[in-house]
Amino acid sequence: MPKRLRPLVLCLGLVLAGTSMPRAQRNAAPAAQAQDADFAAQVKRWTTRPEFLTPLVDHLPIVPGVPTPKDVLGYHVGVPGKLTSTAEALRYYRALEAKSARVKVLTIGKSDEGRDVTIVVVADEATIRDLERYRGYLAQLADPRTLSDTQARTIIASAKPIYHLMGGLHSAETGPPEMLMELAYRLAVEESPLIRQIRDRIIVTILPAADPDGRDRYVDWYRQHLVGITSERDRVSGPPYWGRYVFHDNNRDINYSQVTMRALLDWYLQWHPPVMHDLHESVPFLYTFSGQAPQNPSLDPILYGELPMFANFEMAQLTKYGLPGVWTHGFVDMWSPGYLAFMSSNHNGIARMYETFGNAGATTMTRSVANAEAGGGGNRTTREWYRPMPPYKEVQWSMRNNTNFMETGVLTALQFTAAFPKVVLENFWLKSRHAIEAGQTEAPFAFVVPAGQADPTRVAMLVNLLRVQGIEVGRTREPLKLTDGSWPAGSYVVKRDQPYGRLAKVLLQKEDYPDPSLRTYDDTGWMMGLMLQVDVASTGDRAVLAVPVDPVARVEPAGALSGAPGAAIVVPDHGANALITLRHRLKGVAVRAAEASFTVGETSYPAGSFVIDTAQAGVDVAARVAAAVAPLGLAAVQLAARPDVATHDVDLPRLAIYSTWGSTQEVGWVRHALDRFEVTYDLIYKERVRKGGLRADYDVILMPSQGSSARRLVYDIDMRGAPLPYTKSPEFPSLGMYGESDDIRGGMGLEGVLELQHFLDAGGTLVTLGAASAMPVEFGLAKTLTTSRPSAAFYAPGPIVQAEITRPQHPLFYGYAKSTIPVRYAGGPWLQVPEGDPDAQVLMRFVGGDASVLNGLLRGAAEIKNVAAVVEQSVGQGRLVLFGTNPCYRWQNHGEFGLLFNAILHWNDRPAVPVPSPSVPPAATAVAGR
Ligand SMILES: [Zn+2]
Repeated sequence: MPKRLRPLVLCLGLVLAGTSMPRAQRNAAPAAQAQDADFAAQVKRWTTRPEFLTPLVDHLPIVPGVPTPKDVLGYHVGVPGKLTSTAEALRYYRALEAKSARVKVLTIGKSDEGRDVTIVVVADEATIRDLERYRGYLAQLADPRTLSDTQARTIIASAKPIYHLMGGLHSAETGPPEMLMELAYRLAVEESPLIRQIRDRIIVTILPAADPDGRDRYVDWYRQHLVGITSERDRVSGPPYWGRYVFHDNNRDINYSQVTMRALLDWYLQWHPPVMHDLHESVPFLYTFSGQAPQNPSLDPILYGELPMFANFEMAQLTKYGLPGVWTHGFVDMWSPGYLAFMSSNHNGIARMYETFGNAGATTMTRSVANAEAGGGGNRTTREWYRPMPPYKEVQWSMRNNTNFMETGVLTALQFTAAFPKVVLENFWLKSRHAIEAGQTEAPFAFVVPAGQADPTRVAMLVNLLRVQGIEVGRTREPLKLTDGSWPAGSYVVKRDQPYGRLAKVLLQKEDYPDPSLRTYDDTGWMMGLMLQVDVASTGDRAVLAVPVDPVARVEPAGALSGAPGAAIVVPDHGANALITLRHRLKGVAVRAAEASFTVGETSYPAGSFVIDTAQAGVDVAARVAAAVAPLGLAAVQLAARPDVATHDVDLPRLAIYSTWGSTQEVGWVRHALDRFEVTYDLIYKERVRKGGLRADYDVILMPSQGSSARRLVYDIDMRGAPLPYTKSPEFPSLGMYGESDDIRGGMGLEGVLELQHFLDAGGTLVTLGAASAMPVEFGLAKTLTTSRPSAAFYAPGPIVQAEITRPQHPLFYGYAKSTIPVRYAGGPWLQVPEGDPDAQVLMRFVGGDASVLNGLLRGAAEIKNVAAVVEQSVGQGRLVLFGTNPCYRWQNHGEFGLLFNAILHWNDRPAVPVPSPSVPPAATAVAGR
């Protein structure tokens, strides 16, 4: 490796001082500040090559009375082999707050597991004393509707930008929560011109661990299993869980469903940091995000100048210090709005991101950088125009290297912001103003969510999800008549001439993917109307902006039981997901489902509607139903007589959800949805499956999408190295949650597959979603099915496509009024059903062709024409329901949730079409007569 020149640095930070530095600061003598000699010596030792250390972080000032991280933790940040838990880190931040008037710790929420979610604020003493005033300035710039230019400029002259940093969103990316402690200390105490300028001119906020539950679980796992692994070759699996439900997808939670993500958004909308910078780890050595193509054209073009502006400054500065492998471009694009830090870009700020090289722990090891595994996506060690000094092909890497790179980068970003604080503020104000102006001058001028939609619960959810993001929604008092449409009074209107009008457009309107030859980092489609299967219209009639509306805080549809007491109660099935909640809340009440639509008087009720006899021994049925439907927003109607329609019992299955130990995230999204809708289930793993006797305990086993292949689903984590227990203990209290295993390796194996076969033979129902649907086919549970593969040219990064319901009378489709519905293409197996197979039916299939792509990118859309999307097959006494789609994708495709919920509610109510085999279970024969 070439020897690299070290920059000539005469005095700490002076080389960086801006020319606009006030004289008083210039005269301050940073050299006079006492330095921690032990820190300097240790850090030098832990840094594996001299060029990996920079003048910004090779020293640490000592200020009597103000604790360094080592004073509280017992070690300097970056020490090999040690990770800090959230409680320990919070103890440090609170100790720093107690002794420094430049630091304040805010608690903004609680995690799923009860940990504090905190924000650490660092600024000069006067600013910390007056934080509310500065918060107020940013709030005014964020919504400049009532500000004149003069007023705005007056505010900008007094205001300071908040630069928000966050680490620990991804628990295996362990460096940022360590580095941030040292950063907070350095910002609070160092008197170098660079740090003084940062402290004087901007407010730094730090989220020490964006997923505190995951951080602690990972720290425990590292201490138990990983700390002693010093060879890249011997690295083993991480813990089976980070947070309660998800891993990386906490950075894809577009609807802020997870409580810690939501806590941050709520804080954001109070504090309006113009810059949010998320610290990740993957690719070598430091990638700084510049928002490459494709870019979402609905956001302000200024943003697309700002992103590379920061990134290029950092790349130039860090390269100047001699750090190799600092680069930008060529990795993550600006298309999907669902990343956590994008709450800033989406709200007229700037989302920034680093990926720093990390070892998934604090153990120093030699890393082979040129292989694809090092951060994913292939070799990052080539010289490119955006990577002028590439990373080395092999490197000994330490936690301190990681700290040095990241902290130097962050200080450089803060230096830039402190050099141009008014530019950052002016841009924030202008982007906010432009957003309002765009809504006044560019169609669509508003989105309309029409009143009178059959299912008010999904309408309410859509409106509420917009409100969570701070988007203003109004409700019309009068019927809305515009040149391009008419809608009834009570419709919801999202006017675009508001600060977050651009975000409304991003979420509600179809964005045309700019270039089908461009690949994307993430999902290409997310339109909320399609995902929730709620009608959303847009209008190009500017008159809508003047239509009076009542502001909506939150929509809570009022459910009620209506009509005079009679023999039966009907709860119509218009596709409300809350029907499954209702069934659970009506425990002890017999509930039946209509197998066809029926009419009573003037009113028709769809198939799937609940029919409940009021005369049930020992139960006040009307009172129970009335109490249950009200908070769920469901309508129930009392009928004089039981309707003349075939029904079946909506008996709840004993439900198990199967999870591998090595791929729990998509299982987690399903668990999350079922928990939110109060569906009861057991979470089972290989241990329970291998034990056998599944049919004695369960009626339905649900296998969410998991594993990269059928083989991976069955064999899961490789049997190499030592056993990997995931068990509770006083020493590692975060482990053993959500399930326990003496050894998470090995998967269910063929023994497990055999037990699933026994379960099916004995009358069980196995429901598989997405990728998991390959397993029953490839391991022979679905005897006659096969799968086919798309061509190499096929490319489908999460588009929304049309699917055709081919068996509309099947209970799976209760609540779906249309025969063609939008579904998210999930990349599941292409299931092939042999012609004339009496035991297997296609229930839903993809329409295929370019016209069937409703949102996002799908290259090769013709290939999915008539490909099966849902298949049902009889196996022994039982049955398989295989989804090629994922009807429970994150907290996003609520319009598809009903397919999964129907599979659970009507698990033993398969219609006997065509001719039932002799082995169809008795419950199903009751349905055959209709
Ligand atoms: Zn990450």
